[in-house]
Amino acid sequence: METGKIALVTGAGKGIGAACAKKLAAMGHTVIINYNGSKAAAEETAAQIASAGGKAYTMQCDVSDPEAVSAMVETIQKEYGAVEILVNNAGITRDELMLRMKPEDFDAVIRTNLTAVFYVMQACIRGMIKKRKGKIVNISSVSGVIGNAGQANYSAAKAGVIGMTKTAARELAGRNITVNAVAPGFITTDMTNALPDAAKEGILSKVPMGRGGKPEDVANAVAFLCSEESDYITGQVLCVDGGMAM
Ligand code: NAD
Repeated sequence: METGKIALVTGAGKGIGAACAKKLAAMGHTVIINYNGSKAAAEETAAQIASAGGKAYTMQCDVSDPEAVSAMVETIQKEYGAVEILVNNAGITRDELMLRMKPEDFDAVIRTNLTAVFYVMQACIRGMIKKRKGKIVNISSVSGVIGNAGQANYSAAKAGVIGMTKTAARELAGRNITVNAVAPGFITTDMTNALPDAAKEGILSKVPMGRGGKPEDVANAVAFLCSEESDYITGQVLCVDGGMAM
């Protein structure tokens, strides 16, 4: 088993991030559960990992703040060691049709879902380059692959994540660091629970498998891309979507 690596998962208090944190901990890694506002959820996830025999620590940081991100990554380095596995998962939605979308809602989604991914990658890759080892998985979305009405901000950010993932993969391939994206389809979490029933039914009607996925479905793909079994895979986008974006 691969053990002893330090894995940072952003926005890992709940949903897909929490599932990724649990899976990586079960694989033997020490997981840093980053959260912004949801302290209680992050502590609960860490407690669940500990009671299952794993190692997890929580760390507050708004990933859209570059100084806070640098400080978080430095603290991780000092207290636990260099981040060797990074899962950029934190994300938000501010859905609205383009005609009505407010500039601040466009900007907020780009800042959290795209710019923050850059900040966290930039802060972590120095340590990975020194170790000549690293795995980065950025959580995109099928919305960034095929678009989605009402998500001009979100789909632009998630498509941007794919472009940035491929650039990072090219820049870091020679350093033994792989960078891939996972693009979930409709996964049952707080993010999708907030959608009106008609919107949920509309999305699900476009899923060939006819159902939504679980956070664990995404975590399994993330875990593979963080493992040595994917060492020759970089710059790829793996859709975990019941066939939605094919
Ligand atoms: P969620 O709302 O349950 O979790 C998102 C987490 O990100 C929350 O814990 C939130 O506190 C955290 N977060 C938000 N802004 C942050 C910030 N500035 N700093 C630190 N943490 C922050 O949603 P989820 O469904 O688990 O989403 C996880 C990721 O998966 C997101 O990037 C989302 O866009 C993506 N995604 C989800 C779906 C889906 O169907 N649920 C589909 C495609 C992509």
